[in-house]
Amino acid sequence: MKIVFATNNPNKIKEVQAQLPEQFTLLSLADIGCFEDIPETSPTIEGNALQKATYIKENYGYDCFADDTGLEVDGLDGAPGVFSARYAGEQKNADDNMKKLLAELKEKPNRKAQFKTVIALILYGNTQSFTGICKGTILKEKKGDKGFGYDPIFQPEGFDLAFAEMSIEQKNKIGHRGKAVQKLIEYLNKLS
Ligand code: IMP
Repeated sequence: MKIVFATNNPNKIKEVQAQLPEQFTLLSLADIGCFEDIPETSPTIEGNALQKATYIKENYGYDCFADDTGLEVDGLDGAPGVFSARYAGEQKNADDNMKKLLAELKEKPNRKAQFKTVIALILYGNTQSFTGICKGTILKEKKGDKGFGYDPIFQPEGFDLAFAEMSIEQKNKIGHRGKAVQKLIEYLNKLS
């Protein structure tokens, strides 16, 4: 089964591809000739995931799924949340975002946080969503060189490693996106 993953992020494609059983072939946005920025203007993570999937269905005609992820930090009342990508500005730069987050948390004793991913699937005229959450803490400095985004400063609960020190397989097993993808796979398997 071929399915479009509505993302331009090669790291996300790699993570999800690594988790999908062989019978599912992932098509990226480039594979379907979509090179524009898809609008993400919803005030919620759920809304953005649905907005991205709907955009592809309406403009390109493909059944597809899209994900949206936010990092919710307790000591910052859930920020950056839905604004995680542009936390430090429209340049959407991971180093700038991490720098800002570390500065905002400098004086805060509570460094607990969670990643939340919502996947919206549009398939055969139905829409479904799947959520994955990974709880952890924000480290005081960056560690590791794997992964992307906030991975160097996020340490999942029960581990001494930052996400950026883990293999894709390890991150998928315990991570937010991995958990949401697992639910997506279970749903797709029931259909086939
Ligand atoms: P989006 O889902 O691509 O909109 O991601 C929002 C922000 O969270 C971006 O800054 C991403 O780099 C970051 N992000 C998304 N997923 C992850 C992840 O698995 N680890 C670390 N950062 C992430």
